Amino acid sequence: MPDTHVTCPNCGYGFENLRKSTRMFDCPSCDTTLFREADALKTLGNNGEMHDYPMLFGLHDTVTADGGKFIIIGHARYDYGRGTWDEMYGENSQGKGAWISIDEGDVAIQYPYGGNSGPRRKDPPAVGDRFGYSGTDFTVTEADTATCIAVRGQFPDLIQVGDEHYFVNASGPSGQLLSGEFFEGGHQWFEGHWLDPFTLKVDRQDGSRPT
Ligand SMILES: [Zn+2]
Repeated sequence: MPDTHVTCPNCGYGFENLRKSTRMFDCPSCDTTLFREADALKTLGNNGEMHDYPMLFGLHDTVTADGGKFIIIGHARYDYGRGTWDEMYGENSQGKGAWISIDEGDVAIQYPYGGNSGPRRKDPPAVGDRFGYSGTDFTVTEADTATCIAVRGQFPDLIQVGDEHYFVNASGPSGQLLSGEFFEGGHQWFEGHWLDPFTLKVDRQDGSRPT
């Protein structure tokens, strides 16, 4: 099982439970970010400062949201100049991935569009722009530049501390959310919706309930 026995090339730390879908992860022993490419492990530098503050949930917690039960395996923090927000990556028992973003009281769940689905536009729309997608009218509510400042855990894609991208959030009439990320050489759209934080069910990894 090559997926389950991986050793940090920097410090020798052994990983026992990497997911098959994991391409990028950080070493808890030496704080190095690692990227898996074919059979090789590349080191990508430091995993960044993740200052602790109270959060709705964290790594290894199980979150029931949007009809699914997701184990949180990745945590990335972004800075957009005026503050930070957190993107938590979770997978359900079928291996379906979801991103749950937490920006103070605002919580959203989003799923990446695969293949050729998702909006066709390759350039970011501006704040206030309206556009239709899949029978729904969306209005762009937010657009900004974000820089990744810290990563912990496992991710299906490469996310590197210092990476910068431009993002837009567009909202539909009943809480639908379309988000686009634009970076050098590409873009990625996500679909999802805003969540009422009070409807989230969180099971802490240590069995306790959040207070
Ligand atoms: Zn290490």
